[in-house]
Amino acid sequence: MPRLAVRIKKLAFICAKCFSEKEEKLAWFVGSTLFNESFLCRTCWKGQFKQLTERERKEWAFYVPKKSGKDC
Ligand SMILES: [Zn+2]
Repeated sequence: MPRLAVRIKKLAFICAKCFSEKEEKLAWFVGSTLFNESFLCRTCWKGQFKQLTERERKEWAFYVPKKSGKDC
């Protein structure tokens, strides 16, 4: 079923929050927000991250490096 395969592949590159298809990189987000276990673009991912509790953020700290200085 090639049609289904194409559809799944395309879905994987759409941000679950803003539905942007132009984002080249989507990040897997897990947290107690509406977008738990969703692929989000960088902008939306940060937005959701801010909604997490401090405890949840610390759990993410193991996966997300702190300010590198090269960002922005
Ligand atoms: Zn987005």
